[in-house]
Amino acid sequence: MSTEIYIPTNLQEAIRYYSNEARCLEILIAMRWPDGIVTCPRCQGTDTTFMSKNSRWQCNTKGCRKQFSVKVGTYMEDSALGLDKWLMAMWLIANCKNGISSCEIARDLGITQKSAWFVLHRVRLSFGDAMPADFQGTVEADETYIGGLEKNKHASKRTLGTQGRNLKTKTAVFGILQRGDGDSASKATAMVVSNTGGKELKGRIRKHVQSGSEVYTDQWVGYKGLTSECVHKFVDHAMEYVRDNVSTNGIENFWSLLKRMIRGTYIQVSPWHLERYVGEQTFRFNERKANDAGRFLQTVAGVGGKRLTYKQLTTLAWSQEA
Ligand SMILES: [Zn+2]
Repeated sequence: MSTEIYIPTNLQEAIRYYSNEARCLEILIAMRWPDGIVTCPRCQGTDTTFMSKNSRWQCNTKGCRKQFSVKVGTYMEDSALGLDKWLMAMWLIANCKNGISSCEIARDLGITQKSAWFVLHRVRLSFGDAMPADFQGTVEADETYIGGLEKNKHASKRTLGTQGRNLKTKTAVFGILQRGDGDSASKATAMVVSNTGGKELKGRIRKHVQSGSEVYTDQWVGYKGLTSECVHKFVDHAMEYVRDNVSTNGIENFWSLLKRMIRGTYIQVSPWHLERYVGEQTFRFNERKANDAGRFLQTVAGVGGKRLTYKQLTTLAWSQEA
């Protein structure tokens, strides 16, 4: 069943194209089962029969014989929302430069803000699959802090001594960026970390950066002692920002994109959900050379094998996220 399938090239066309359920099914089948063999999500059996009257498959494996829709075994499972709305949510979040708030998605899709918020968090699970894990060559590493700016809070809500590197009101995010060269663009990964001590940061660098790479950081004490496995060079930001080729300007540009997205679109994000927002911006950064159709396909490809229930999302912490 490896026939070529058509992919819309812009939003207007995508809305029109996926208003047809058969086309929604076609793209989801193609991305979930690229070899064309529909597999039962419960028993992994491959003997199935498609029933066009209700768009479900019958599993023919003895002892299973369950029916399933294309949503079963994906983060769309248990959602009453139509496939067209799911696909449009994927298109929008993958392609809006600064992200898209649940208010906007709610308006665009004609759903409540609460369900839009839930849909967006589930679609973000797709981006984890696209996160690069291996870095080599010239690499920058840096950490940043995300959270409400203390100076903007009412005096009674401020915590004393919390500007800059402080984890009482902010969440630490660590990032690695591999510089581009003639053939390839720079790429990055970023993750929420519990602290910015040497053990944590150097552990992440060892995990993701091939030994022998050249690693550039700032003068933060957490990076001291890296030289045993890589060529570590740092710039002391109290003195200079670039020395020869050594700087963290690439990863700092990445942080400013992340912060612009959070401040401009999501206004306020809860620390419990920050990892998914970081994943969203990382995806957008790494796929910046792709076109809308390419980013959309990547997002649809990540739909399978993940669950996130509303209860899981909200028992973590209720937040005022946009
Ligand atoms: Zn089965």
